[in-house]
Amino acid sequence: MIHGYSAAVEPARWQTILADSITDPRELLTRLKLGLDLLPAAIAADQSFRLRVPAPFVDLMEPGNPNDPLLRQVLPLGVELDEQPGFVSDPLGEQHSNSQPGIVHKYQGRLLLIVSGGCAVNCRYCFRRHFPYADNNLSTAEWQQALDYIRNDCSIKEVIFSGGDPLVASDKRLAWLTSEIAGIPHVRRLRVHTRLPLVLPQRITEQLIAALTHTRLPLTMVLHCNHASELGPAQRSAIQHLRQAGVMLLNQAVLLRGVNDNLTDLSNLSENLGDTGVLPYYLHMLDHVRGAQHFLVDDATATRLMGQLLTQLPGYLAPRLVREVAGQPAKVPIPVELVYA
Ligand code: SF4
Repeated sequence: MIHGYSAAVEPARWQTILADSITDPRELLTRLKLGLDLLPAAIAADQSFRLRVPAPFVDLMEPGNPNDPLLRQVLPLGVELDEQPGFVSDPLGEQHSNSQPGIVHKYQGRLLLIVSGGCAVNCRYCFRRHFPYADNNLSTAEWQQALDYIRNDCSIKEVIFSGGDPLVASDKRLAWLTSEIAGIPHVRRLRVHTRLPLVLPQRITEQLIAALTHTRLPLTMVLHCNHASELGPAQRSAIQHLRQAGVMLLNQAVLLRGVNDNLTDLSNLSENLGDTGVLPYYLHMLDHVRGAQHFLVDDATATRLMGQLLTQLPGYLAPRLVREVAGQPAKVPIPVELVYA
């Protein structure tokens, strides 16, 4: 058993916890002792993007608090159905970068491999909430074509397992892909973008770590944690296990109205990530995806918060404030001036 999961009683396997995720808005509200006045809007918004949240993440929410920052990330709201000019289904133009099934190749030197279309959690602000994952559900022949694409492009130095959430895939699939990619001489690094260590920490097993680390490729894992409350004991334990396996750990967060758009929450997030050995990497501006307009933090507020944050944290715990712009060759840094709080 791995560190943190060696209790006498065997914890439920991650697949079982995942299968038992809450997908019914009524069940979520009842479990959190919230009034059912939120239910009609939640059911309406659920039709366009389904509620999905695993129990370990719900357990970190505060019962009776409709404004809990973790709940706000997953609960469907009626406001999602309002049309807002400029908020579109594919804000980053990814469907144009996805000519090869399973691959999104936007940037020089690295590409995304869509390892899994599924996620353990459906985040309401997700820029891929309208992504055509069904078109990226690959057959064995298509997987070979995706690997051939990497083999045939010597400029690819880094492969990024993405999704959905790539860690929803089986250990067998991940081990096979890792091994195939390690066999491509010009690929130097492997990266995994995942939210599972936060929402389903039981996924971090010995078998998973072996599947991802048994080749020559150094592994970087980029977590997606938006609030310090997401770092409960099981989550910290999973992160600790990844660190012990030599995985480089970074975090990317999204600046979200009503979730983390204040100095205290942003500072706590960085400090707590630092305590667990995870370096804050990016703080993303919201992508303008249809249905997520109520999470928008304007540029003036974002730069002021970031300017204050820079005066409160050591440099290595201050994330870079960035925006993703369709067609740009990299994430675009947003200029920030120091603000003395
Ligand atoms: S886990 Fe990531 S890809 Fe999945 S819904 Fe959340 S933000 Fe989107």
